[in-house]
Amino acid sequence: MLKNEINEKQRKHLKLLPGVDHILEKAKANSLFNDIPKSVVIKSVRSVIAKLRESILDNNKNFSDPDLTDASILSDLEKLVQEDMRPNLKRVINATGVVVHTNLGRSLLTDTALENIAEIAGGYSNLEFDLLNGRRGSRYSLVEDILCEISGAESAMVVNNNAGAVFLSLNTVAPQKEVIVSRGELVEIGGSFRIPDVMEKSGAILKEVGTTNRTHLKDYENAISENTGLLLKVHTSNYSVVGFTAAVSLEQMVELGNKQRLPVMEDLGSGTFIDFSKYNMTKEPTIQESVASGADIITFSGDKLLGGPQAGIIIGSKIIIDRIKQNPLARALRIDKLTLAALESTLRLYREPEKAVKAIPTLYMLTIPLSDIKDRAEKLAKLLSDIEEPDFNKPSLKKPGLSVSISNISSRAGGGALPLLDLPSKAVRISIAGISANSIEKSMRRNDPPIIGRIEEDLFVLDLRTIHNEELTLIVSAITQIIKK
Ligand SMILES: *Cc1c(COP(=O)(O)O)cnc(C)c1O
Repeated sequence: MLKNEINEKQRKHLKLLPGVDHILEKAKANSLFNDIPKSVVIKSVRSVIAKLRESILDNNKNFSDPDLTDASILSDLEKLVQEDMRPNLKRVINATGVVVHTNLGRSLLTDTALENIAEIAGGYSNLEFDLLNGRRGSRYSLVEDILCEISGAESAMVVNNNAGAVFLSLNTVAPQKEVIVSRGELVEIGGSFRIPDVMEKSGAILKEVGTTNRTHLKDYENAISENTGLLLKVHTSNYSVVGFTAAVSLEQMVELGNKQRLPVMEDLGSGTFIDFSKYNMTKEPTIQESVASGADIITFSGDKLLGGPQAGIIIGSKIIIDRIKQNPLARALRIDKLTLAALESTLRLYREPEKAVKAIPTLYMLTIPLSDIKDRAEKLAKLLSDIEEPDFNKPSLKKPGLSVSISNISSRAGGGALPLLDLPSKAVRISIAGISANSIEKSMRRNDPPIIGRIEEDLFVLDLRTIHNEELTLIVSAITQIIKK
């Protein structure tokens, strides 16, 4: 807006606006921010003043005098400074019910994995040092034996993530060669990973066969030429082709590969060592089954159904994995020591699958009995309905407009796993008179810690599958704050 449009009241307010030094002095006098870096305090003071100036000049705002008192400015300043001191990457409460939520960090690590990270991160380690022979060692060997033990594979290596694992495998095995893939398996995962694009960048040439819904063994057979380098099967992680369908099994592809002397690779995507059909869930092909099928290369993620840190795991035939390890690009995709520490601890738990299902948070949340989720929902609903009316002069008005109910809901595995599976769960639904579901969602999202739920039928909905008992009181205080505002 133009200067000459400033009105009398605004001019008065601008005059009252204190300078940086004045606020800094006040802060010092109150011994606020003694432990805060000076640069942060000054930056925040400037930003508080800039915001005040902006709202004074905003004709749509009815700016009142008290907002310019030292007390009010110092309180704004404190909030800004605190916000600035908190890391950008912060813990959130996942109330979405999506267990492997890529945007919320996929898998939570087990206590043993966390302890191992702290131990390794805080000291030197034998990351690339062979303690037996006193020579340089390989970081890849640290989890190779446990991976082979629990999967049955001959050889293993790990990289940064599964996208990297697929890329590196294709780049090693089939540069300038055709890789045959069914049209029903040309997946896109979460926007940035598309099989055709990754293949092109790896130097391999995509050879599509079959149709979207049906691919037969003869389609692969007919596509094989002297320029074929690999037969690839991709797990259709985040969708399912239903109806009139046909796909070629990994066993059949291995049989064909053996006949034609061609390697066979499977991108399992999620990859699990656990047979979910034992837990009343849809059968997901296991890693052990893929190994038993005889595939030469199998890749999967460390942080999806496996429940470990972000990593890409490659297992299979020793001859091929040795070549992958020697690919110069492996260095660009290499796994770091903290990830290795967490991955090794997680993998060791799979020696006892029943215990793994209880100890690994991702598996625990997927298999938790509905009655446990129901108990948690009832506990949360009770805590919420006990929130005190903020206006103590009107004790008759209990719970001002807060209404809480429990309902059935379906959770999802997420992370491109078990796409059709509905996991029956329990939700707490919240509405507050005079506050829209959208503003509740926004306030919860901006809470400390942020609470991420969803909106359904104009209610704010929290799925209890992915909420921990210790987080219930944090949710209650967030809702209390919204009510008392
Ligand atoms: C998730 C997924 C990937 C990518 O794995 P990241 O570990 O996220 O890199 C690749 N292929 C399939 C089939 C997937 O499901």
